[in-house]
Amino acid sequence: MTNKSAVGSNNSDLTEMNRSAIVKILQQRDVCSRAEIAKITGLTQASITKITAVLIEMGIVSEVGTIKGNGNRRSIGLRLNAEEKQVIGVKFSRHMFAVGVFDISGKLYTMRETEFELEQDTREVLTDMKDQIHETLKKYKNVVAIGLALPGPYIREEGRIAMVTSMPKWHDINFIDEFKNEFNKPLFIEQDANAGALAEWWFGNHGRPLNTLAYFLAGEGVGSGIVENDNLLLGMQGVASEVGHISIDVNGPRCECGNYGCLELYCCASAMLERAKQEMPDLMNKKYKNRAEACGDVFEEARRGNRKAGKVVDEIANYLAYGCVTLINAYNPDIIVIGDIISMGGDLLLPTIKETVQARVIPEMYEKVKIEFSKLSVDPTLYGAAAIATDRLLRKPSEYLKANQK
Ligand SMILES: [Zn+2]
Repeated sequence: MTNKSAVGSNNSDLTEMNRSAIVKILQQRDVCSRAEIAKITGLTQASITKITAVLIEMGIVSEVGTIKGNGNRRSIGLRLNAEEKQVIGVKFSRHMFAVGVFDISGKLYTMRETEFELEQDTREVLTDMKDQIHETLKKYKNVVAIGLALPGPYIREEGRIAMVTSMPKWHDINFIDEFKNEFNKPLFIEQDANAGALAEWWFGNHGRPLNTLAYFLAGEGVGSGIVENDNLLLGMQGVASEVGHISIDVNGPRCECGNYGCLELYCCASAMLERAKQEMPDLMNKKYKNRAEACGDVFEEARRGNRKAGKVVDEIANYLAYGCVTLINAYNPDIIVIGDIISMGGDLLLPTIKETVQARVIPEMYEKVKIEFSKLSVDPTLYGAAAIATDRLLRKPSEYLKANQK
């Protein structure tokens, strides 16, 4: 990338980084010349030529006529063949799963959500999910890979969700075994917060080259995913950066993970609704379709000036801030993007979050970090499922894509 040591290097990690940097530029611009890419990335023309040759061979990029460059020099334009390389993203959460078709530029083609009850037979839910993916594959012939995002902590090597609050039935399902021979396409699995981090990294359009991005998921569960220089921080088993299970009160209530006073217990959607019920029992007595709808109602009340709702929202903002403080001290990110259900309250939450974070981290770090709410048009975890597939394809295009037969 713009890093001097990266220029002209043959190191394969750097080639991957440079490949993704080039694809990101092409995602944002319709047509671009090699010279322009060289200028933006700081890479040599020779490196660009080498990397784009592979992308062209794999059908990811096409040459499209000539475009006018500097000093009226004409050069060949490059364009991403996004619509020809589609991916299926599958989000699985505690109460629903979603199947969406995207392309490698992040464009959404279709999506479908299916709600299920926790008591429902896990086999029934899995069969329904697989059927929907098969149907989608029949309809969308350009799909080249599938990404699946699961609630964390997901033990990557074992293919199992280690512990998911309130869904013990799913603990025994081995997702790798379930899916490895089901479809005739490569399938990649990550936990939801890591998927969200990749979605923000690939499709978040954060405008400047980022070194470290932290995605802070606050929804049915609480977690985080860290991408540093194009790589997810995984730890040994893929369960690193579980900010939801960092203790914010060592004498607090016991969490299912074994720890006490975990952040998740204070700022997940059900914790927020519990507090809202205590403060406003009459108002929260309605029958809601799901937790997202109920949380939306609490935020709406706070916007209308309901003091009790405002109190609950402020408490949540402070808990999110404690999470941000931990993320800043642990990973020193350029940006923290907060996403999922709780992010519906973005404008209400942000001033308190920033104030609390500023009071609790050293000024030199606070000045440099941006804290934002996700601006992705689709649920970051579903988007992230597509980003998992996109990321893995672009890392090893020759392994997963056939060379273009032209
Ligand atoms: Zn815990």
